[in-house]
Amino acid sequence: MTNTLFDALMGAHQGDTRPVLIRPDGTQISYDGLYRLSGRLANMLAAQGVEPGDRVAVQAGKSPEAMALYLATVRAGAVFLPLNPAYTPAEIAYFIGDAEPALVVCDPARAGQRDDFMPSGTRLLTLGADGGGSLTEAAKGHPEEHRPCARKGRDLAAILYTSGTTGRSKGAMLSHDNLLSNARVLVDEWRFTPDDVLLHALPIFHTHGLFVASNVVMLSGGAMIWLAKFDLDEVIRLLPRATAMMGVPTFYTRLLDRPDFDRDLVAGMRLFTSGSAPLLAETHRAFEERTGHRILERYGMTETSMSTSNPYEGDRRAGTVGLPLPGVELRITAGGKPVAAGEIGMIEVRGQNVFRGYWRMPEKTAEELTDDGWFTTGDLGQVDGDGYVTIVGRDKDLIISGGFNIYPKEVEEEIDRLPGVLESAVIGLPHPDLGEGVVAVVARRPGAHIEPEAILAGLEGRLARFKQPRQVLVVEALPRNAMGKVQKAALRAEHAGLFAG
Ligand code: ATP
Ligand code: MG
Repeated sequence: MTNTLFDALMGAHQGDTRPVLIRPDGTQISYDGLYRLSGRLANMLAAQGVEPGDRVAVQAGKSPEAMALYLATVRAGAVFLPLNPAYTPAEIAYFIGDAEPALVVCDPARAGQRDDFMPSGTRLLTLGADGGGSLTEAAKGHPEEHRPCARKGRDLAAILYTSGTTGRSKGAMLSHDNLLSNARVLVDEWRFTPDDVLLHALPIFHTHGLFVASNVVMLSGGAMIWLAKFDLDEVIRLLPRATAMMGVPTFYTRLLDRPDFDRDLVAGMRLFTSGSAPLLAETHRAFEERTGHRILERYGMTETSMSTSNPYEGDRRAGTVGLPLPGVELRITAGGKPVAAGEIGMIEVRGQNVFRGYWRMPEKTAEELTDDGWFTTGDLGQVDGDGYVTIVGRDKDLIISGGFNIYPKEVEEEIDRLPGVLESAVIGLPHPDLGEGVVAVVARRPGAHIEPEAILAGLEGRLARFKQPRQVLVVEALPRNAMGKVQKAALRAEHAGLFAG
């Protein structure tokens, strides 16, 4: 691949007056506008002392200007490092200490706390109260023309911290080619064209919203309705103007909760995708019944961008994440050796999509990335005779009770069908006889009352005895991290002593 990421995404769009970002109020930013703003910002970064290869950390809301800053950073040959705005000063301090960015850009609210997270000597810029003001101001004094930077190929374009679901977040180093090859494949596979309008309600500090959604749309020349967050009323209002939406499973369950979400609303839509967490079979079924659309589920992670996808045309199999994407090899191993077809094991992935390693964690990188390019995902799965991949859960969440393997997802799916249940997390806790005992932590629907005995009775006959929970804990809500993923490690720590004594 010869292009820089910026050239591939934006090179063809200089002078292009068609919209790329559409605000909820209908006002638009054209490709040309974004191209020019990114040129000014790239020059501003240079004036701030940012050099090719330097990190630029951005902790800001989801404004069009934040998007321009992403493009400006890769255009300048620097490394984009987005941080979740929800992080606390202590968390930001960790990331900034780890990544040592040349420049930190953040919202003014954050800037007030700078002493809490900024190492002395790091430069700070604020983004402006409206999410753009002073950044646009700051850009004004700089020329639009920008001298192209030679960084491309295996050079880093971004460091993205993982969601921190299984432990401390790790900085995944992603190259221009990693991101570009993935975006190209997805444009092709998912048939994106300049006519597409993507309802973009995902955050842009995560691979899903930034690389999967935004890169794919920009590469195809389509437009994005730019929602700061998933606001259900706004999504319902704006869906009729869109052709595609990329979401996480909770987007779909929340839409289904709305009686006014119906076929008419999505008549102009051609694609709904889901990823980042498992899509329950029940959601899949209910969505198709309500809208006539089959959600296309796919699988990826910060380190690999997208690895598999159900087919655009052809059989979208509920419960699976589809087939490896072109250019991606996938194998299932146990103890480092490939397993027989259909068996469950560790999912390993190899291809141009696979990252360059963890930032400043050479040992961790060596553990998970072999010399010949195979990456150990930490996810357990199986591949059926037709090549469809099913994720059965994370290796770290596997429960071994009395010598039997129990995959929490299977138990959770059964519990989630029961009346009054909003969602559940099934975990293994230290047990004197069994090694681990199965525990279900169940969040109830608002206003519902649940007896643990009713949950156990509901599982009778549906799950083998050894898979049934020994204890059911009913709670108001499950703990989630900043990406909205259930924190099983926190649950295990909280209830560690349940079976003690
Ligand atoms: P950390 O690596 O810091 O513990 P994380 O793995 O949650 O956090 P991400 O890279 O955001 O960080 O998430 C990738 C993970 O999300 C995958 O490894 C997988 O476990 C899960 N995932 C993604 N898509 C799907 C899917 N379609 N079905 C089931 N799980 C999925
Ligand atoms: Mg992970």
